[in-house]
Amino acid sequence: MREDHCTRCGACCAAFRVDFHPSELASSTPGGVPDALTVPVTATLVRMRGTDEAAPRCVALEGEIGVSVRCGLYACRPSPCREFAPYAALGIGDDACDRARRRHGLPPL
Ligand code: SF4
Ligand code: SF4
Repeated sequence: MREDHCTRCGACCAAFRVDFHPSELASSTPGGVPDALTVPVTATLVRMRGTDEAAPRCVALEGEIGVSVRCGLYACRPSPCREFAPYAALGIGDDACDRARRRHGLPPL
């Protein structure tokens, strides 16, 4: 999630599993993702807590989807979040962004 369009959305933080390598955890990298906000999946994969629920929502997501949101760990968010829909903040979505928004009743960017 980034600024502008994304701070009024947040749909992708409540639509998909967010998985990444444990080397991004704070226990491995200074300034990394707090371990307690993740669950282990395999030896080479951890998942943001809350993103594998039937109605997924990352534990770090604050606010109301489609209204006003923020990532509670924006500065140390994991790589899938940094890489997701790179032009969304400029108002240019992509297929995954559109899918996430649709899931929450929001139109494509
Ligand atoms: S779904 Fe798209 S517009 Fe919404 S927060 Fe994610 S990247 Fe931004
Ligand atoms: S870590 Fe932040 S940007 Fe990533 S899914 Fe969670 S709330 Fe969204």
